[in-house]
Amino acid sequence: MNRFEKCNTQLVQSIGKKEGPISPVIVHSASFGYGNSETAEGIFDGSIKKPLYARMGNPTSAQLESALAQMEGGVGSVATASGMAASALAVMSIVGVGDEVISIGGLFGGTYTLFNETLRRFGVKSHFFDVDALEAIEAAINGQTKLLFLESVGNPNMRLPDIAAIADIAAKHGVALIVDNTTTPLCVRPFELGADIVIYSTTKLLTGNASSLGGAAIYRAIGEGNDKFKTARYADLHPFIEKMGAMAMIAVAKKRAMRDLGMSPDAFGSFLTLLGLETLGLRMERIARSVEEVAAALDASGLHVIHPSLTHHPHHERYRTLFLYGCGPLLCIDCRDKSEAFRLLNATKLATITANIGDSRTLALHMASTIYRDFDEQTRAFLGITPGLIRLSIGLESSRDIIEDLLQAAT
Ligand SMILES: *Cc1c(COP(=O)(O)O)cnc(C)c1O
Repeated sequence: MNRFEKCNTQLVQSIGKKEGPISPVIVHSASFGYGNSETAEGIFDGSIKKPLYARMGNPTSAQLESALAQMEGGVGSVATASGMAASALAVMSIVGVGDEVISIGGLFGGTYTLFNETLRRFGVKSHFFDVDALEAIEAAINGQTKLLFLESVGNPNMRLPDIAAIADIAAKHGVALIVDNTTTPLCVRPFELGADIVIYSTTKLLTGNASSLGGAAIYRAIGEGNDKFKTARYADLHPFIEKMGAMAMIAVAKKRAMRDLGMSPDAFGSFLTLLGLETLGLRMERIARSVEEVAAALDASGLHVIHPSLTHHPHHERYRTLFLYGCGPLLCIDCRDKSEAFRLLNATKLATITANIGDSRTLALHMASTIYRDFDEQTRAFLGITPGLIRLSIGLESSRDIIEDLLQAAT
């Protein structure tokens, strides 16, 4: 049974209930009555598992958290108001002043500025490396390094990391590895490759139709051959581990980020994401096939296509051997310049011009004039943002229609 098939069964079965309402119940309440003072005390000390207050958790979002943990093979997860909130929660619940983060790959714009601007203002230093700079990455790890942060596919530079090799470096030095798996749900299984935390922008493929902004951080159990957090590097987390054991990182995320920063998801948004999640396996399998077909056809037409399924891509061999289920919906076209990119985009009838990715519709955007407009020349070069770069996110339309439309737009 292939990976997508397995998820088709598991996701629909884990989301639907056998008794009562089948569709997830939307609990739209900011606060919850406790009934009596003893119960209130029990809820606050954690001995009674009932909702406390919607900032700390909501029953609909809890259902999403449990479906995501099951999908990913984690011990638990924390749903958030956006993908950036998930990154902020996962990182800020672990780092403090004087700590360092090593960030690897072509980073999503908001993630880059979170590290390079926001965390820097709070005294957390970040180092940035290309996916292939393994020696430099290892050399940069020191006593202050708390996290390695990696995107499963460079968005939009399309460079592919050898995730297991980076996880080995993280394991050797006892540093936790976070993988942003937003563009490759189900295709890439970061926990199986050695990651400790997986984050998603659920806004993208997990919901799949632009109906809801959201995110999630999913945690591997502490103890299952994973003792990184028990070492002196993470001494400030030890009280959580003593109290919560395998589930400690969920408490760390909730108490050190969600409670104080309040990036809580909304019940209706979590409901929409649960609906989307049911069809994730079906959609990913179709998209994985379509992306390769579109990349091949556009490449054959003479366009400069950037996708690792193409033999001239520098990570083609890695794609063939390590990304057996594809690398998600993205592919890029490098036009000669901005005006040629604008002309192509304005001539497509099918692509929706927007900053989003991972939708059921095909989406497209010129990078340098939009998401990366505030970045200086050097940073753009590091992130692979050339003047004519267009990012496409392939949707569920017939791949023949997508190809036909893009070819007519390019001529
Ligand atoms: C979109 C995206 C994010 C941020 O998610 P939001 O839901 O927009 O906050 C983070 N990482 C990647 C790879 C993304 O594509």
